[in-house]
Amino acid sequence: MAAIAFDNSYTRLPERFFSRRQPTPVADPGPVRVNHPLATLLGIAPQWLESPEGTAVLAGNAIVPGSEPIATVYAGHQFGSYNPQLGDGRALLLGEVIGADGTRYDIQLKGSGPTPYSRGGDGRAPLGAVLREYIVSEAMHTLGLPTTRALAAVTTGEQVARESFLPGAVLCRVARSHIRIGTFQFFAARQDTEALELLVAHVLERHYPDAAGDGNPALALLQRMINAQASLVARWQLLGFIHGVMNTDNMLLSGETIDYGPCAFMDAFNRDQVYSSIDHAGRYAYGNQPAITHWNLAALAQALLPVLHPDQDQAVALAQAAVDTFPGQFAREHGQCLARKLGLAELADGDQALADELFQLMEEHQLDFTLTFRRLADLAGTTPGGDGATQGAGTTVEALFEIPDPLLPWLARWQQRLAAEQTTAGERQAVMYSANPVFIPRNHLVEEALRAATEQGDFEPFNALVDVLSQPFTYNPERARFATPPRPEQVVRQTFCGT
Ligand code: AMP
Ligand code: MG
Repeated sequence: MAAIAFDNSYTRLPERFFSRRQPTPVADPGPVRVNHPLATLLGIAPQWLESPEGTAVLAGNAIVPGSEPIATVYAGHQFGSYNPQLGDGRALLLGEVIGADGTRYDIQLKGSGPTPYSRGGDGRAPLGAVLREYIVSEAMHTLGLPTTRALAAVTTGEQVARESFLPGAVLCRVARSHIRIGTFQFFAARQDTEALELLVAHVLERHYPDAAGDGNPALALLQRMINAQASLVARWQLLGFIHGVMNTDNMLLSGETIDYGPCAFMDAFNRDQVYSSIDHAGRYAYGNQPAITHWNLAALAQALLPVLHPDQDQAVALAQAAVDTFPGQFAREHGQCLARKLGLAELADGDQALADELFQLMEEHQLDFTLTFRRLADLAGTTPGGDGATQGAGTTVEALFEIPDPLLPWLARWQQRLAAEQTTAGERQAVMYSANPVFIPRNHLVEEALRAATEQGDFEPFNALVDVLSQPFTYNPERARFATPPRPEQVVRQTFCGT
């Protein structure tokens, strides 16, 4: 029996969708970590992945029968400028598998050597970037957001030349697919209508099968994608997540978060926050993410025009009407999510204003995004004039964070509002504890883990962080260090793509 039961569909598309290419072997593959639950979901034995044979496959030194490695081609708008030729420059899709949940998954190596789309790049990845993606993408998953995932990371025993020489690594990434807005843009720019039609059908069948029979497949796809992205980005906003590089080649039709380059979760709330060292104009700042998503969806609509309607005016009208629904859908998704974070069944009249005031106060007083909401969850069990949280003192974050005095009038109004809900205090608190994580991948902890691995070959901090983040909603004071905001000297101000 094959170690991985590949069942590939993308390679059945015409050859102009990809290039067949083998990974470039590395000097000395070494195991770093295998994601056991994900391996099991994919029907792959975790112990095999950890064996020398599995490690060789994860490094690109061996190929499993049934694997048909390809680099896929795409284009994209990078920081607003169109680049007609991108593609997997340092990644190879090994193939697809059907998971135990019935879902089709891509298994991709990232950092596996040059491809026809490398554009002068080395096709490799430094260890730090691989570990960052492992930590943050798996955290996104446990936080409940759609995301690409990390099946495993291995070291290569080789150095990669960046500003300095860094140890190399390969990430094995899993996604429901790697088809991007930029994949559509690539074929649209070449007026390849046949390819667009094939791609629409492929994506609908894979990700939105219930819409596959719709009279207008391209319109159905556009509408589903708008809905998926509205939901995704609303949830980013309410976790304080900043993607950092929302180019159209980094937005997946599956609605999963992809590309954990310069991303970061903010500590203190700041709408203008930017971490990416290359985002000089703040195009992808926290507060801009919804508008940029809207812009990217317009780029998808534009690419779909030739297959939306044979008459161009009618195609434009359909595209425009669909794209115009984004702000409303985003507001709805954001509102529903925000209500849960505040312990409300839904946002009623005046609730958005109450929430806006909270954000205003958080920004003014530079409050930690994650702990402010988590502390509100602690306090959701109290009534005005009451005597403390319903949870045992040890499980609250009181020792790490207290609502400062200037917020007390707001707190009293919020508690009054809670008292008007039909739910019990215990029910509200349970919802809030499940909507407000206590552990996020804090930048200073991520940096610390990357530094230890890269500079000392010490993977203990990386493993400890991944382990803690596997249960982001359950507080345990023994893990207080992982929930504590950075001290001033620990604050990370910039992140680097690290490509
Ligand atoms: P990203 O910034 O990860 O979205 O990548 C943008 C484009 O640059 C994609 O086509 C990547 O495949 C390509 N790329 C990034 N890093 C490398 C590298 N080290 N070697 C070759 N291509 C790369
Ligand atoms: Mg990318």
